Amino acid sequence: MFQVAALVKSLTNPLGLYIHIPFCAKKCNYCDFYSAVYNKDTLSAYLDALKGEIKKWGGTIHRPIDTVYIGGGTPSLLGEEILSLVDCINTNFTVLPDAEITVESNPSSSGEFLSFAKAAGVNRLSIGVQSGCDKTLKILGRTHTAADAVNTVQNARELGFDNISVDLMIALPHSNLQTLKGDIDFMLSLNPEHISAYILKVEQNTVFSKKYDTLGLPDDDAAAEQYLYMCEALAKNGYNHYEISNFSREGYESRHNMKYWECRDYLGIGPAAHSCLDGKRFYYPRDLQGFVKEPKTISDGAGGDHAEQLMLGLRLSKGVNFDEIYGEMPQNIKKKITLLEKAGYIKVNLPHISLTNSGMLISNSIITELLEDEDI
Ligand code: SF4
Repeated sequence: MFQVAALVKSLTNPLGLYIHIPFCAKKCNYCDFYSAVYNKDTLSAYLDALKGEIKKWGGTIHRPIDTVYIGGGTPSLLGEEILSLVDCINTNFTVLPDAEITVESNPSSSGEFLSFAKAAGVNRLSIGVQSGCDKTLKILGRTHTAADAVNTVQNARELGFDNISVDLMIALPHSNLQTLKGDIDFMLSLNPEHISAYILKVEQNTVFSKKYDTLGLPDDDAAAEQYLYMCEALAKNGYNHYEISNFSREGYESRHNMKYWECRDYLGIGPAAHSCLDGKRFYYPRDLQGFVKEPKTISDGAGGDHAEQLMLGLRLSKGVNFDEIYGEMPQNIKKKITLLEKAGYIKVNLPHISLTNSGMLISNSIITELLEDEDI
C-alpha cells in the first residue's frame, strides 16, 4: 500500500527541468559560470548529445514537468535551434499545459531568437541587462549596450512576452548610490515583471580576479548600503522582495527557482548542471567534450536534509517553519534566535523565522551560526 502511495505521489509530483547551454560569444570579465566560446559545429555536436540525454531521462522519469529553465551560458545563441530543443523536451517529457518555460537571453544576441523562442512555446524571458550604463557594461565585458537592452525588451513585448525578468548587478566598479539609482531607474523604465539583483562578487580565475586591486570596487559597507538602498527602492516601486536576490510583481516569482529554495525536485541536464531527485543530488561534470562523448552524472550525496531545508528556506523572505523542519525548537537555538532578532537580523513569529534585509546581507553567517549547534 505504501509503495503504491509513493508511486502515485512520484507520478503526480511535478518536476522542474533545467537545460544548460554552455556557450557564450565572449567571456564576461566577472563570470565563472561554465561556458565555452561559441562555435557552430561544437554547438551542433552538443545539441545532439543534449537531445540524447533528454530522451534518455524522458524514458526513465515518468513525472510531469511544470517548469523548464533553459539557462547558460547564452541560450539566445541557439537561434532557430530553440524550436527543435523545446520540441525534443515536449516529445520526451509530459510538459504540463501551464508550465513555466523560461529561457535566458543576452541583449546582444537576441535578434531573431526571440521570435523563435515565442514560437517554441517559451513564456518567460530572463534578460541579462546588468546595468544601464554603457561605460559600466564595457568594464564588465558585456557585449551589449543599454540601447540593446531597451530594444530587446521592446521586441519581446511586441512578440507578446508578458513575463520578463531582468538581471541587475550592484556594487559594481566605481559605483555609488548615485550610479546605482541610475541603474535602478533604468531597470524600472523597462517595466519588467521580475528583477534578479546580485552583488558583484569577484570569483577566482576570472579577468576581474587578476586586476582586483585596480577595479575600484566599493568596500563591504558601501556594498551593503547599496543592497539595502536597492531593496527599499524596488519595494517602493511594487516589487516584492521574495528571495535574497530576487524581486517580483505579485504572482511573478520564478516558479522554477522556487523549487531550488524549497528543496523540491528538479533535473538538470548539461555540463555543470545539478539535480536533486528523490532525495539524491547529482551533477554532470564541467566538461563539454566529455558530455558530447559520453554524458554521465556524478553522485553528490543526499539532498533535502534538515540543514539544507533551513539553509535554502532562509533565502526566502517568507522564511521557514522551524518546527516543520526539526520538530520542537531546542532552547539554545531559541536563545540564538532571540539575540539575532534583537540585533535586527531575524523576524520571529515562532515557529516561523525569516531574515530581515540586513539579515539577508549576512545570511551565510547566520545560517552557519544556527547550523553550528550540534542539537540540530
Ligand atoms: S554571458 Fe552570462 S554566462 Fe556568458 S560569460 Fe557573460 S555572464 Fe557568463
